[in-house]
Amino acid sequence: MGKMAILVIDMLEDFVRGKLKCDMGAKIIPNIRKLLVSARKKGIPIIYTNDSHIQGIDKELELWGPHAIKGSRGASVVEELKPEEGDFVVEKRRYSGFFQTDLDLLLRELGVDTLVLTGLTTNVCVKHTAADAFFRGYKVIVVEDCTGAFTLEDHLDGLKYMKNIYGVEIVKSSDILKAIEGGD
Ligand code: ZN
Repeated sequence: MGKMAILVIDMLEDFVRGKLKCDMGAKIIPNIRKLLVSARKKGIPIIYTNDSHIQGIDKELELWGPHAIKGSRGASVVEELKPEEGDFVVEKRRYSGFFQTDLDLLLRELGVDTLVLTGLTTNVCVKHTAADAFFRGYKVIVVEDCTGAFTLEDHLDGLKYMKNIYGVEIVKSSDILKAIEGGD
């Protein structure tokens, strides 16, 4: 495995408990937590990509209604997964963590070539981030028990699409834990 970073996508109050609540959101929190604890110990970069919408401006809000408005409680990372010192936070206004953000620059400066994707939702923000990562030549790994969608069907569709179209590797969190703990 190359130099990896863990991406935590939209694990925000509004997606886990709020306006756009995904039932799978709460279930994946403990799995993501374990990965983050292990990654921090090994110095593997953790990057949060968070919706941070501008009310009345962002196109996405016309489709989904107001959610994750910049500065609101809904736009904050859930308590259980709060960023810690040394983690990176990238605010985004579209599905993809790469769109009009400095995520690509950050990854290059960190020397990262492999992205481990976690968070919400598998078939929307995770999928669009995987697409942009694929276009830019990153290796992409999606952790199936650390991602989720509004329905199980959406989740499985998202995984299948990313595997077939972007060649992402679908793994379990136990596989990533092993890779993290085995590597130095
Ligand atoms: Zn959004």
